[in-house]
Amino acid sequence: MIRVKFWGTRGSITAPGRANIHFGGHTACVEVTAFDVDEPGAATHISGPRLIIDGGSGLATLQGAMMTSACGRGQGELHFLVSHYHWDHLIGFPFFSPMFVAGNQITFYGDTVERLQASIERLFSSTYAPQMESLAARLDYKTIEAEGMNVAGFQVRAAQNRHPGKAMSFRLQYGPHAVVYSTDHEVGDPDTDRALVELARGAQLWILDSMFTPAEWEKSQGWGHSSHIAATELALQAGVETAVLFHHAPAHDDEMLFQMGRDAMTLAGGSSTTVLMARDGLVVDVGRQK
Ligand SMILES: [Zn+2]
Ligand SMILES: [Zn+2]
Repeated sequence: MIRVKFWGTRGSITAPGRANIHFGGHTACVEVTAFDVDEPGAATHISGPRLIIDGGSGLATLQGAMMTSACGRGQGELHFLVSHYHWDHLIGFPFFSPMFVAGNQITFYGDTVERLQASIERLFSSTYAPQMESLAARLDYKTIEAEGMNVAGFQVRAAQNRHPGKAMSFRLQYGPHAVVYSTDHEVGDPDTDRALVELARGAQLWILDSMFTPAEWEKSQGWGHSSHIAATELALQAGVETAVLFHHAPAHDDEMLFQMGRDAMTLAGGSSTTVLMARDGLVVDVGRQK
């Protein structure tokens, strides 16, 4: 089975506040872990493949558990898929404690080694924060091969989104189970949408950009994001079991996001697709035996 844990689900900038307590306020960070055995204790038994997609501010919450295990002892081996280099997907890295422990090995995967390395290394300047001088982990950079490659035990394929400055979708396959991550994508270009639907076909879970309401999207064409309705329609085309709407606008409070969730579920009513609204702390298991 594959376990997906959402540590940050906002886009653009963090959104703390009393009106956002249910969905949370951290920016994009998703942990994906695979287990060979579907056992009750699996949640705490993280020895199988593990990947982290994007390093938004949600990484700050995730690192707590990591520092009490191998990463705290300098024996951690971490793998990050980076969809693109906008702040909301990177801002957790300069505050990520395992980076400052000698012996840890951290590998980043992105569209090209050049862009990836330049974007990450630029964050580690003491101009921005003094601790950057004590960066101690070994960092490595790899280009994602679109046709597929093994990353930390997952078979990973990628496709291009429609987004200013580019962004990538990822499909993570583990045995018969697959999870697809497509955020920072604007629905509307037929070729790009078709390629993403193909990437997601047969997957059990698809995480999609749903930053806007249709009215907001109307005024934000070309920004590289979609409405919750457009995202749900895309998920229905691929026929995935579960669509998770993600990359919430900072201005959308709990009330608004609950309403968007109800709209999306109504649209998917009668289909075999279930729609969930991502929230910080949400865990979804794919392929767990009932
Ligand atoms: Zn974003
Ligand atoms: Zn972006």
